[in-house]
Amino acid sequence: MEKTRVFAGVDLGGTNTKLGLISETGEILDRLQVPTPTQSGYEQVVESVADGLRMLIGSRHVVAIGIGAPGPLDAECGVVIEAPNLPGFAGKALARDLQIRSERPVVLENDANAAALGEWWVGAGEGIRHLIVLTIGTGIGGGLILGGRLYRGSSFSAGEVGHMTIEPNGPPCACGNHGCLEALASAPAIAARAREKLQKGFESLMLDLAGGDPAAISAEVVSRACAENDPVALRVLEETGRYLGIGAANLINVLNPELVLFGGGGAQAGEFLLAPIQKEVDRRSFSGSRCRAELGLCALGNDAGVVGAARVAMDANP
Ligand SMILES: [Zn+2]
Repeated sequence: MEKTRVFAGVDLGGTNTKLGLISETGEILDRLQVPTPTQSGYEQVVESVADGLRMLIGSRHVVAIGIGAPGPLDAECGVVIEAPNLPGFAGKALARDLQIRSERPVVLENDANAAALGEWWVGAGEGIRHLIVLTIGTGIGGGLILGGRLYRGSSFSAGEVGHMTIEPNGPPCACGNHGCLEALASAPAIAARAREKLQKGFESLMLDLAGGDPAAISAEVVSRACAENDPVALRVLEETGRYLGIGAANLINVLNPELVLFGGGGAQAGEFLLAPIQKEVDRRSFSGSRCRAELGLCALGNDAGVVGAARVAMDANP
């Protein structure tokens, strides 16, 4: 018998799916990662998630399951509307289909929202009533916790902070717009900025760290070079931080949060990225809201999505 109610959280990714059993105090009791058989299609992916859940849950009593998936999606109906990295998922009733296979209530949530909820519940945003989380990965996702609740918007699309226009004539974004924050400051954008510097003839440790192959330069390589005080890598993060700071200042001016957190693979450089963001926020945010907004780094790393998804399940099954 479990002393506490237990929920399962699933973080569905294009490459891997993370699963966890979470207590009602947000503690991770057990976890599992399975590859996502993306190319085999929707049914196979759902089957694989259900198999993973069966393995993880075993004979334990689990109240409900929360699953975070790439959006846009309809969280209320549990339907994926569009998922560019998961072929065959558009229009599918993912919550219902997983519920049938797992024989437990399943709730669907946008993965970035789930990660924000995780940080708010037991991470760096614990106890914060007005919190914004930006996750810098392949794209830039976001979650808004306003007044102690996840803010979903009129059609579950709130928090798409990665698609704020930052440069009107900036590089094209996957969404069809130009100069989105995501096109300027995601992990691939950071790597592209680093490669551009090398092409211009700047010498940098980044090339050595990438084994001499410019194509192998990633945001992680940039972070590692920053830790070694490589001036070119520092410059790359300064430019990236400037864009993130413009985005953060816009959010701060509109929403007046207490805390803005940055996480994901693109934020691994930590303080090296936070410093230029802070500089830009100081420059651009309206003093009335600025006086209460702190900037910080996420604390849960890859666990945020799983923990937050479990929280969604818990909130739906009080
Ligand atoms: Zn965009």
